[in-house]
Amino acid sequence: MVKPRRAYHTLERAAAGPTYSQEAPYAPEVPYVPHGGAPVQVPMGGAGYGPLGGMANLHVSEPVPPRQQYQTAPLASSATDAPRILSFGSNTQEPVPVLPHERIIAQQTLGVPPLFKTSEHTNPPLGDTSYQVIDQGISGPDFLRMSMYNVPASAKLREATKLPLAVMARPFARAEVPIADFSQDEPPRCARCRTFMNPSMQFASGGSKFVCNMCQFVNRTPDYYFEQTDATGRRIDWQSRPELSVGTYDMELPPSYGTGSKLRHLFAIDTSRDSVKKGLVHVAAEAIRQALYGLDKTPGEGCLLPDTQVAIVAFHQSIIFFRFNASGQLEMLQDNNLQDPVVPPDLFVNPEEAFEGMSSLLDNLPNLFPNAPNHSCFGTLLKVGQDALGEAGGRISAICTTFPSMAPGKLVRRDSGLYTPPSNTQADSHQLAKELFLPTATWYTDMAKEYSKCGIGFDLFAFPTGYSDLTNFGFVAQASGGRHLVYPQYVGQRDARAFMVDFVEACAEPLVATQTALKFRTSNGLQIEKVWAPELGLMDSATNVLATIVYDGSLDPKLDVHVQCAVLYTTPWGTRRLRVCNIVSGVTDMFKAVLRFVDSDVVVAAIARQTTAQMFAKPLAMLRTAIVEKIREIFTAARTNSGTNMPSGYLVVPTQLRPLLPMSLALIKCPAFSPRTYMSDSRTHSARLIERMTVAQLSLYLYPRIYPVHELFDVQDGIDLTTLPMLEAKLSALSTGGCYLIFNGLKFLLFVTSTVPPALVRDLLGAESLDQVSPYLDELPVLDSDISRHTRELCAQLAEHVGRPWCPLQLAREVLLPT
Ligand SMILES: [Zn+2]
Repeated sequence: MVKPRRAYHTLERAAAGPTYSQEAPYAPEVPYVPHGGAPVQVPMGGAGYGPLGGMANLHVSEPVPPRQQYQTAPLASSATDAPRILSFGSNTQEPVPVLPHERIIAQQTLGVPPLFKTSEHTNPPLGDTSYQVIDQGISGPDFLRMSMYNVPASAKLREATKLPLAVMARPFARAEVPIADFSQDEPPRCARCRTFMNPSMQFASGGSKFVCNMCQFVNRTPDYYFEQTDATGRRIDWQSRPELSVGTYDMELPPSYGTGSKLRHLFAIDTSRDSVKKGLVHVAAEAIRQALYGLDKTPGEGCLLPDTQVAIVAFHQSIIFFRFNASGQLEMLQDNNLQDPVVPPDLFVNPEEAFEGMSSLLDNLPNLFPNAPNHSCFGTLLKVGQDALGEAGGRISAICTTFPSMAPGKLVRRDSGLYTPPSNTQADSHQLAKELFLPTATWYTDMAKEYSKCGIGFDLFAFPTGYSDLTNFGFVAQASGGRHLVYPQYVGQRDARAFMVDFVEACAEPLVATQTALKFRTSNGLQIEKVWAPELGLMDSATNVLATIVYDGSLDPKLDVHVQCAVLYTTPWGTRRLRVCNIVSGVTDMFKAVLRFVDSDVVVAAIARQTTAQMFAKPLAMLRTAIVEKIREIFTAARTNSGTNMPSGYLVVPTQLRPLLPMSLALIKCPAFSPRTYMSDSRTHSARLIERMTVAQLSLYLYPRIYPVHELFDVQDGIDLTTLPMLEAKLSALSTGGCYLIFNGLKFLLFVTSTVPPALVRDLLGAESLDQVSPYLDELPVLDSDISRHTRELCAQLAEHVGRPWCPLQLAREVLLPT
């Protein structure tokens, strides 16, 4: 038998983190509370950036005469005055680290090209870094990330760290993975714990037996799967078998796993009066056209998966079906029975075959309902979607404007004052949280269960004018695994392109998995405590699931911990497959060794998701306190168990826990939990974003990148994201007369201070003064100036960095913001 695979942990290598010299370019200037009972103060001021939300109270520092063209005051603080910390493995005093600098160091450490080799490297790169993964028998961090890569050997040691033991899974991060063909045979798996074959299983007795890496059970190799082993104990065919050579693979399954149907996609458009008046019907028709036929409006040029069947329905106070009859003629069928609608047969067509009719429908759709009432039977639409797609599952993309005003699914305005009052710990705050954040309409909760059961994903594109009770309204989208996108106060000039990009992006998913069943398995001594996601009807590359792990025994430090995530699903072309991802982690009985292999991004994500799940149960103030208390516990534990004589007044920050400080403060300032006044819809939407995001997306959403645009005019060698300095997300990092590009992974915010030089406004925005710049700008104008070229290049590179073709830009003028 070959030597068991081990998680490769080299303590010395990991202990040495990036060094922060006194010349650190963005030294913080923050109040600092030494460790010892009081909550840890973390060095950041303005990270609560949601869709413009966290920027509303921006102030800038004292004016300083500009040094040169466009430039403003130098950064205010100096490293000399910064508070000091001690890191594990070092007696060197260092300034409190700042996340932007950490990100640049992390990116540069990955090299050129940035590579992560899953068997040679241990801790995954920091969130918000770009890299390619080489699968060496363990799934890459894009598929699976653990909160600890050196798992405590006992529950007692885990408890001492105060850190959660969790795994984040994104099973369909990439569509194309190696495929193992078991269409004729049962997939090999452990007879005791049912773990599927993976590269960590060990073959013995010449290949006639294999030892399960989870439970150590010795299995007999099935005859159809037997192969001889070589002198090292490895099967001689291991390189040709994905299940023996890579961490992430698909399995073709035998007929006993059932059969599926080809993917069907239903488009639903709200044609109520408001929707027509806002021009949304026209925009929705164009978005569907682009998804079906591409920008060239040509059959076969669309972004849907091949052979996808599509249908279009409209709804306001009734449901309108568009169907092509046997002779290819388009029929419009209206159903006024909202309680029990009847879906006509043969609704779905191949968009290539129905090109003429579908194009004609999309041309005429904006003019079909000029006098529609301003009502929405959204609840009936959900029922129609379920009936139309049925047990075969599929995807629904719904463009909705009007508040659901008709039964079934009629909603009432629960946020009567439109805004959540400042939260407090009074008894009625509990009731308020329950009223605003707990789905109460059983129609929607029941529908969500049906969608999950049938394998249907519901994408909601909502355009509310005011309060829309997203807690209920968007519940099916959240629970079914669909997208939850909101465009409040829609203005076509500003928002139409952003919607179109989002819509086409959702339709262009390279792999849509329906009728899914997800299962985590882990090593003996551990068990999955909870999977923090509902039974999803649909999964795609945006699906991200957290699972927390607890102990049911102790672990042997000589053995590794393994976690396997398996998803049974139906492919878009109707076959049943299994997606398997595997990850390995070491085991230790030493406290310091645990902390040196912590993935703080997963820790933040786990804390965030566990907190959003409490939104309906506790007042927001209590949730914020709980987050702060959790962070305080973690750093108290780090200090108490460090085993080193630390001088009083110094914060002990283990290298791997550095991002926890700014990220946790950013978390309590994001719209979901912010102490500031937000509409309950904004909090619900923010919470659902957090629940759905990957660790990389969450990192950027909570702590955005900030670039001083006014310094980009003298970039010599073009924009390079790996070296271009970023600012800390705090107010004192901004200067009077500056102009800043803020990016949270979803959109750009161009923040322009009131005293910005006119030359900069002219060269960047093409106007003589800020007053002349359109507030509905959605991207920078193309101008022949260095600063314009560099800033547009920066925007393009940032969009590419997050894997998007384009991201919208919103203008924020300091002079117009409330003080
Ligand atoms: Zn087993």
